[in-house]
Amino acid sequence: MSLDLDRLRAETPGCAHVLHLNAAGSSLPTRRTLDATIGHLQLEAEIGGYEAADLRRGELDGFYPSVARLIGADPGEIAFVENATRAWDLAFYSLDFKPGDRILTCVSEYSSNFISYLQVTKRTGAELVVVPDDAHGQIDLAALERLIDKRTRLISISHIPTQGGLVQPAEAVGRIANAAGVLYLLDACQSVGQLPVDVAKIGCDFLSATGRKYLRGPRGTGFLYARQKTTADIEPIFLDNHAAKWTGDREYKTFDNALRFENWERYFAGVLGLKAAVDQANELGMEAIWGRLKPLADGLRTRLGKVKGVTLTDLGELQGAIVTFAVDGKDHLELKAVFRAQKINVSVSTQFSSRLDLKGRGLSTVMRASVHLYNTEAELDRFVAALEEAIA
Ligand SMILES: *Cc1c(COP(=O)(O)O)cnc(C)c1O
Repeated sequence: MSLDLDRLRAETPGCAHVLHLNAAGSSLPTRRTLDATIGHLQLEAEIGGYEAADLRRGELDGFYPSVARLIGADPGEIAFVENATRAWDLAFYSLDFKPGDRILTCVSEYSSNFISYLQVTKRTGAELVVVPDDAHGQIDLAALERLIDKRTRLISISHIPTQGGLVQPAEAVGRIANAAGVLYLLDACQSVGQLPVDVAKIGCDFLSATGRKYLRGPRGTGFLYARQKTTADIEPIFLDNHAAKWTGDREYKTFDNALRFENWERYFAGVLGLKAAVDQANELGMEAIWGRLKPLADGLRTRLGKVKGVTLTDLGELQGAIVTFAVDGKDHLELKAVFRAQKINVSVSTQFSSRLDLKGRGLSTVMRASVHLYNTEAELDRFVAALEEAIA
C-alpha cells in the first residue's frame, strides 16, 4: 500500500506548527490518538474514572490484540507498562542471577539498561560482558557466539540505539541465543513503529517498547512482550492483586500470562491513546511505514553528507530513521537551540544516553534528526538550509 502523505500530514496537528525531526525523542501523534486520549480523560471527568473504564472496557481490552498483531505475538504475551524502561526492568529484575552468571550486552547499549546491569552484577555476583562491535559498528556475531558458555544466563541488547541509525542484527542474535538456550531480552524502544518487528522471527524471550517514540502514542505509555513458551515460569519482581490472586490466608497464585507483569492502576487514557496509535500503524502496515522512513532518512544522510563541516556518525550495515551527525567547531546544544527558535525540533545525543559507544568513538555529543511519516522532502531541504546558515 502506498501512503498518502498529504493525508498523513493533515491528520497530524503538529505539522502546522513545527518541523519535527525528533521522533526518536517523542513523535507527533495523530488527531485520532489525541482524541482517544483526551476523550477518555473527558469521560473520566464527566462520569467518574471507574465508570469510564467500565464503559470503555471493550476498547481497553482491545489494546492487547492490537499490540500482539503489531509484533506477531499472542495477546496474552503483552503487558501494558508506563514506559520502556520499566517494561525492560520488569523482565530484567525478575531474573534470578547467581554469582558467576553472565550477562552479554552490546557496546551501544542504552544507559538505563547498563546502570541496571551494574547494579545487579554488584548485588548478585553475576558478571557483565560487553560483546565488541564488528567493522560495521554493530554487534560482532562471531564474538557473541564465542563468548557464550555455560555461565551465560542472558543476552540483552538494544535493537536500535537512541544515538543513531544503527539497526542491530536482532534476528541473527536471536538465532544464536535460541541455539544456545540462553534468554534473550530485546530493548525495541526505537524499533517498534519504525520497522517491521516480528518476535517470532527475532526469537526474543522479552521485548520492551515505548509509546511516544516511533509508535506516535502518548507519553507515559509502553509495553512488555513476554514469550509464553519460555518465560511462563518467571515470577515478576513485583506482584499485586492484578498480577496474582490471594487464594488463601497465606497463599497466592500468580497469573500465568503476561498480565502478571502489570499492576492494577494505570493511565487508562494512555492505554486507549496507545491503542489508537498502534491500530493506525497496523492499518498503514509496518512494511509501508519502513518503506517510507528508510529512504527519507537515507535522503537526509545524502544531503548532510554534502554539507561542509558535517560528518555523519551513524553506524551499521543497515541504517534506519535516526540520523546523527557532528558539526565541526559548533556546540551541538547551541545549534539545537538555534533550530528550536526557528520551530525546527532536533535533539542532541550525549554520553548520558550511551557512554561506551560515543566515548569509544571519541564523540562527546552528536546532533540527532529523526524522521517520521509526516516529514517531507521539502522539510529536509529546509532543515539542511537552516543548518548551512547556522554554520556560515
Ligand atoms: C528512549 C529509550 C529507552 C527508554 O524509554 P522510556 O520510554 O523513556 O523509558 C530505552 N531504550 C532505548 C534504546 C531508548 O531509545
